[in-house]
Amino acid sequence: MGEVRVRFAPSPTGPLHIGGARSALFNWLFARRHGGTMIVRMEDTDLNRSAEEYEAMILEALRWLGLDWDEGIGVGGPHAPYRQRERLDIYRPYIDRLLNEGKAYLCFCSEEELEAGRQELSARGELPRYLGKCRNLTAAACREKQAAGYRAAVRFRVPEGQLVVVNDLVRGRVEFESDGIGDFIIVKSDGIPTYNFAVVLDDAEMNVTHIIRGEEHLSNTPRQLLIYRALGFTVPQFAHISLILGEDRSKMSKRHGAVSVAQYRRLGYLPEALVNFLALLGWSPEGEREIFSVQELVQQFSLERVSKSPAVFNFDKLKWMNSHYLRQLPASELSALCLPHLAEAGLVEAEPSPQRLAWVERVVATAREHLEYAAQIPGLVQDFFGEEVTLDPQDTDAAEALRFETSPAVIARFREKALEFNEWDEETARETLKEVGKELGVKGKPLFMTVRVALTGKSHGRDLNTLLALLGPQLVARRLQHTLLLLQGLTG
Ligand code: GLU
Repeated sequence: MGEVRVRFAPSPTGPLHIGGARSALFNWLFARRHGGTMIVRMEDTDLNRSAEEYEAMILEALRWLGLDWDEGIGVGGPHAPYRQRERLDIYRPYIDRLLNEGKAYLCFCSEEELEAGRQELSARGELPRYLGKCRNLTAAACREKQAAGYRAAVRFRVPEGQLVVVNDLVRGRVEFESDGIGDFIIVKSDGIPTYNFAVVLDDAEMNVTHIIRGEEHLSNTPRQLLIYRALGFTVPQFAHISLILGEDRSKMSKRHGAVSVAQYRRLGYLPEALVNFLALLGWSPEGEREIFSVQELVQQFSLERVSKSPAVFNFDKLKWMNSHYLRQLPASELSALCLPHLAEAGLVEAEPSPQRLAWVERVVATAREHLEYAAQIPGLVQDFFGEEVTLDPQDTDAAEALRFETSPAVIARFREKALEFNEWDEETARETLKEVGKELGVKGKPLFMTVRVALTGKSHGRDLNTLLALLGPQLVARRLQHTLLLLQGLTG
């Protein structure tokens, strides 16, 4: 393949969504696969909806995902500037050229006139398009209008009776009739170019070779192709990747769950997991494997294996993938990822001492196998926090474990023994409990289950020895005391 130049060109009108992230990723993988160039620029011509904060959020999300770029915002490059609003001077000569060659014309229609046209078409059961009122205004008539203070938009003169063919690398040959398109605005009356126009000028000026973007832009492509033709530009290759659907097969939206990359980041997903997951949304490698490192994705990615059918966003699969990557994480990193969630739940102070941090790391490690994303951590480790014990009313085994005849004695004796220690490790804790059993002639469930329930209120949970070690003898004693009082309350 010759030189590859691709771009990601989001509009800064919101945070980076899953769909945008997937487009960015496919472009990036394609660029890296072929030793090409990745460009990031902003399509900020929608003055009302674009905001600098969104631009910053999008760039931050790309960086977090590990999708770097070689030219564009923040990096610079031979085609700077990379924001459309800063490129108006670059567009001007092309607008003049189209106007001079009669390939575009000034349009003075008011919003009311345009609306009347739309109504007329809809009454005839036809699709909305511009009816051509200003198409044949003479130069003199235009000057007169302008002199009278009317502001003009610029419309592209769509040639009649032409077939516009998109040879899409994913969707194959897609045909459009030019007659259905209608002359469209390329520059609004405020002088700002529209997306369909500016995107072509940018792609052509920046020598973009492949346009990989969402299927929702397929219907824009014939308009863009007509502009390429009118200006004599080389047409790049197009690859329109399928929509992302929710599990109910409707377009993925907030209803289905988190939709922005930042939300997944906040929930404690790892960028490796999200990249792996997004890569498989519409692209499939050979074979059944699903876990791929970024390097492996770069080696294997090809547009030929991008599917035409919609990609369904499967949350369970994403969670499964993330849990896979969480399990690979060193304990300290896993702990750091979970810490903000523990702090938010009020379980750990925001800036714990080094000693406490070491303890948190061990607590978090006990949940590693159960964790799908970091925000789940408080629920998974709550047994390690707090002084009091609450019996889970649903847990009949727990209630039973406290009703053995020996239960009060086991709890009381183990409490006394625990009070003899300031600290203990798993080994000592286990031995101490066993001694209690021997002393009282109790073993099995009435010993171990009773103590577990007396400590946590539940019949299931982490390994008992780990629990004892991490709670420490003093807290163990206090919780046992608390349960003893509860039991006395029940019987007394
Ligand atoms: N600004 C467009 C979007 O965010 C990009 C379209 C394109 O890639 O051509 O959807």
